[in-house]
Amino acid sequence: MGTRTDLLLKCSQILLSEKEHFARIITSEMGKIYRESVAEVEKSAWVCRYYAENGTRFIADEPLDVTDKNAFISYAPLGVVLAVMPWNFPFWQVFRFAAPAVMAGNVGLLKHASNVPQCALAIAGIFEEAGFPPGVFQTILASSRQVNGIISDDRVKAVTLTGSEFAGMSVAETAGRNIKKTVLELGGSDPFIILEDADIASAAKIGAQARMINCGQSCIAAKRFIVVESVHDEFVSIFSDKIASLKMGDPMDDSTDYGPMARIDLATELKDQVLKSVNNGAVSVLKTSIQELNNARYPADVLTNVAPGMPAFEEEIFGPVASVIHAKDEKEAIRIANSSRYGLGASVWTTDIDRGKRVAKQIESGSVFINQMVASHPAIPFGGIKMSGYGRELSHLGIREFMNAKSIVY
Ligand code: NAP
Repeated sequence: MGTRTDLLLKCSQILLSEKEHFARIITSEMGKIYRESVAEVEKSAWVCRYYAENGTRFIADEPLDVTDKNAFISYAPLGVVLAVMPWNFPFWQVFRFAAPAVMAGNVGLLKHASNVPQCALAIAGIFEEAGFPPGVFQTILASSRQVNGIISDDRVKAVTLTGSEFAGMSVAETAGRNIKKTVLELGGSDPFIILEDADIASAAKIGAQARMINCGQSCIAAKRFIVVESVHDEFVSIFSDKIASLKMGDPMDDSTDYGPMARIDLATELKDQVLKSVNNGAVSVLKTSIQELNNARYPADVLTNVAPGMPAFEEEIFGPVASVIHAKDEKEAIRIANSSRYGLGASVWTTDIDRGKRVAKQIESGSVFINQMVASHPAIPFGGIKMSGYGRELSHLGIREFMNAKSIVY
């Protein structure tokens, strides 16, 4: 058996060498287009390699600057960490937890979403094939009703959940009663702010990508396009053309831009949110027909005139529908962005980078990307505030979440 570094590098190699196989499992279980599934597996390999190469340094003893004593921080693993995970990035979400957790010396117990059991089993198989001792990372095919019992078990020391705020509340409540550490990565309604000096063509192109990746089913998808009045019509015109040009189809077909949503109930929920918004004054720019949803195939749309009180303004829209909200100026754009109950990511568009940084500092979110879409990266901390949760994944911060920072003084 090798070191944790060796074994994690082996996981990375297995993921890359069998990426087509794993990608087919992802696509067949949750409908993501095949090339996005391949990219997801590659990114999972990347995070394994990142922690294999940097993990030891991140958790090395840390000398403290104390004048009257000698002291340092020693990082120790907590033990068994339960991971309750969602279906939307069924490999990536798991590996971004598992790579740092296992590198830190913890044991991972995966309770995956019930619609991706083959992904869950395949991931446990990768750790086994890499040579990790039995049980270091295992999948349990449990239902969400069993999660509270597992958290309460003395052998489980901490829990991380990526999913909806309702699931987050339940997990945090039980963990709180048992005084166990939690990390929560919950929903988002990320603002995508377009100021009057933005490169509108580029904002529209990237904005369409940021909304439509994974058929709109991403926590950090751009969801509320907040556009300053003077460039509103120009942005809507280019942006709607981009969205309209995307082809819905078979997720295994190379020419498809977006496939079906993951489950019919999710498509039905989206339809309800859109209809309620339209009945309250939102305008469907693409006038897509959603009365009959064919096997969760939801045609993309752009809603303008979105205003407070509408689901498209207040709630997370988890599918291929963009909400466009107009703002008088920068100040109002920031106010609207911060009026959300969520605070996961945000994107700001301006050709003045100093202005972009100044606006970014005023946004209530876990990250702000200037002139680019929000995207996770192994070396950049990831997480939210407000109803988007707490704690950080990825980077040096992520690996320390499930460790005891022990002070040793002599
Ligand atoms: P979900 O219904 O909350 O499910 C997520 C996981 O939680 C699943 O494993 C699910 O199990 C489990 N679960 C559900 N209710 C539970 C409960 N009461 N107690 C314990 N576990 C429970 O979320 P989803 O619909 O799969 O995923 C979409 C949501 O996740 C969106 O809101 C999205 O924004 C969010 N998300 C956030 C991030 C982030 O990093 N912040 C990333 C991806 C997704 P079952 O499948 O068995 O019900």
